[in-house]
Amino acid sequence: MERSLGLKQITRQGFYFSKPCLKILASLLVIVGMSGCSLSNNNSLQTDSQSNNQSTNQTVNGDRQGKKVILTTFTVLADMAQNVAGDKAIVESITKVGAEVHGYQPTPSDLQRGQNADLILDNGLNLERWAERFYNSFPKVTRITLSEGITPINIAEDSYQGKPNPHAWMSPQNALIYVENIRKALSQIDPANAKTYEANAKVYSQQIRDLDSKLKQAISAIPADRRYLTSCEGAFSYLARDYGLQEVYIWPVNAEQQATPRQVQKVIDTVREKQIPTVFCESTVSDEAQMQVVKETGAEFGGVFYVDSLSPPDGKTPTYLKLLEHNVDTLVKGLSP
Ligand SMILES: [Zn+2]
Repeated sequence: MERSLGLKQITRQGFYFSKPCLKILASLLVIVGMSGCSLSNNNSLQTDSQSNNQSTNQTVNGDRQGKKVILTTFTVLADMAQNVAGDKAIVESITKVGAEVHGYQPTPSDLQRGQNADLILDNGLNLERWAERFYNSFPKVTRITLSEGITPINIAEDSYQGKPNPHAWMSPQNALIYVENIRKALSQIDPANAKTYEANAKVYSQQIRDLDSKLKQAISAIPADRRYLTSCEGAFSYLARDYGLQEVYIWPVNAEQQATPRQVQKVIDTVREKQIPTVFCESTVSDEAQMQVVKETGAEFGGVFYVDSLSPPDGKTPTYLKLLEHNVDTLVKGLSP
């Protein structure tokens, strides 16, 4: 197709999200009517229908009713921001429900949404590997990193060694910091509604604290020698620290190449040595490698955790609070004798 060829040429020439690219894209979008392809640095093309826009993209382009438009990089942050914003601002996630956020490839409509946004909220700590280039297209849009102020836990192994683990939101204590950062950011761009944002943040923070106590209590029911959280991605370091769990994982951070034989063998050895009864995986990745651990060790497969994305509204984890609750429920069920 001519359209695909054109975009591939653009990509090869290295005009990723540059002005000429945007001009060409804009005209292409008129021609193809927003069903376009995404640019990426590996010549791969992604249609918007395959990609990860949580909403229908109507809001940012449609009637804002005078409200500020907040974009977040993934659905967990969108839910947090929505709780603070209430009905005073429009909140949308760039990546869609179920999507893997680390290696996402933004689409042309993401670009357009970014340009029309008043504020972008991201996680930082190298979670969004695609974000810097994405932001270069709209340098004037305010961008706030929500993990600012948390104490990072560094990754202990592989090529990520010494780098901060990005999954800080998995700790409810950290989530309180995220919520405060969201409140400050919203109040800054929309001071007229600052009082509402403050009230909403207060209510939501209390809900997080209440759930945190409830979950700690639930974990304490697991016998101490079984408190191993064994997952595919090492996304639980913060939760494990808060709740006194030992974390075991196949790979430290989701990447294109996952689960080397050495990584799988290491988990097999640990599961055998510690007699870990149950292992788990995450909703946004393949559980194939973990199933190999199950096969080799005889451990049970306890189900999937939600980390890098919420579920659809009718799924198990449509909100951040439900996500935390589901994960701890799944863990407690899996590890209880
Ligand atoms: Zn992740």
